[in-house]
Amino acid sequence: MEAKGLYIHIPFCVQKCRYCDFTSYVASGNEIDRYLDSLEKELEMYKLNEEEISTIFIGGGTPTILSTIQLDRLFKMIKDRVNLQKLEEYTIEANPGTLSIEKLKVIKSGGVNRLSIGLQAVQDKHLLFMGRIHNLKQFEESFYNARKIGFDNINIDVIFAFDNQTVADWKETIDYVAEMKAEHISAYSLIIEEGTDFFDMYEKGELKDVPEEKYLEMYRYTVDKLNNYGFYQYEISNFCNVGYECKHNIKYWNCEEYFGVGVAASGYINNERYTNVKTLKAYAEATTANVFPIEFKEVLDFKEHFNEKIMLGLRMNSGINLSLIDKINNQELEKCIIKSIDNYQKKGYIEKCKDGTIKLTQSGREISNSIIIDLML
Ligand code: SF4
Repeated sequence: MEAKGLYIHIPFCVQKCRYCDFTSYVASGNEIDRYLDSLEKELEMYKLNEEEISTIFIGGGTPTILSTIQLDRLFKMIKDRVNLQKLEEYTIEANPGTLSIEKLKVIKSGGVNRLSIGLQAVQDKHLLFMGRIHNLKQFEESFYNARKIGFDNINIDVIFAFDNQTVADWKETIDYVAEMKAEHISAYSLIIEEGTDFFDMYEKGELKDVPEEKYLEMYRYTVDKLNNYGFYQYEISNFCNVGYECKHNIKYWNCEEYFGVGVAASGYINNERYTNVKTLKAYAEATTANVFPIEFKEVLDFKEHFNEKIMLGLRMNSGINLSLIDKINNQELEKCIIKSIDNYQKKGYIEKCKDGTIKLTQSGREISNSIIIDLML
């Protein structure tokens, strides 16, 4: 049986960040306890074979908004269904400002072995502007407390290329996280998504796009600085010490199977992709009726499968195998894609390896979106 991932979504935050389009709500009353009731029902419906899960990722939202008692309950319901001894990785996302020593202890004793802490920027004025609930000092406390409790696999999330962040600001953030000696750093450029405060500001002309040259200067600095500090880039936005790649996310990028439970969670099982309902009400109703709370599902045909492999696989520095193209079963299309790959290779954006894999080069990664779109069916 192929080992699968398990994603668990906790859709609650203290307040909504102004750039965030993840499904999350400001919890009131006993909403979190009721949500945990539903989560347990959904987990039960999957009747997991406790040996089949090799990675767990508890994301959000802000999972660490849960009280110690609620966290304890969550870990117990997982432990009752998954063999923790078989896990290669068990991650929880954590937000500074919600991460007390007591919670860290509960998280550790629950079996979690990887923390992903959202810092985003080191300048308090930017954190405030983004709607984050914490400042740099609170991040530092969370980070050092986590080390004290024994977490030896920590990711720090940071964001770049947003309006009014200067190149100097970003360099300060990257220099800082490089010095913190976390095992893993995720550095994503900001995308202004519809439905966010930032999107409204953008529409009104209060936020501007970041010019291409500025983005490139920031991205190149990130790659160089982190390389100099011993981090290797294994995905367009992800850097780590050798052996600390996020195994759960690699399952996504390699199009491997995973269950997704919770409001708005997605899963991919038996070549079928599904997404759960987005509201707490619909989620509670479905789980109370013992029905999977799935809003949308589709079986991936060859074209969708191929596109996913290109879209996700080319983000990885290990690339994808060219044998994928042999399976297209349409000689014209095959020729067309091979011609595009050859062109990108000539321009230095793609590297072809002897073992049949193709990878984006560093300059290819800088224009990855246009290459990926070009190679999709
Ligand atoms: S803490 Fe994370 S999930 Fe919650 S609003 Fe902010 S970015 Fe979104």
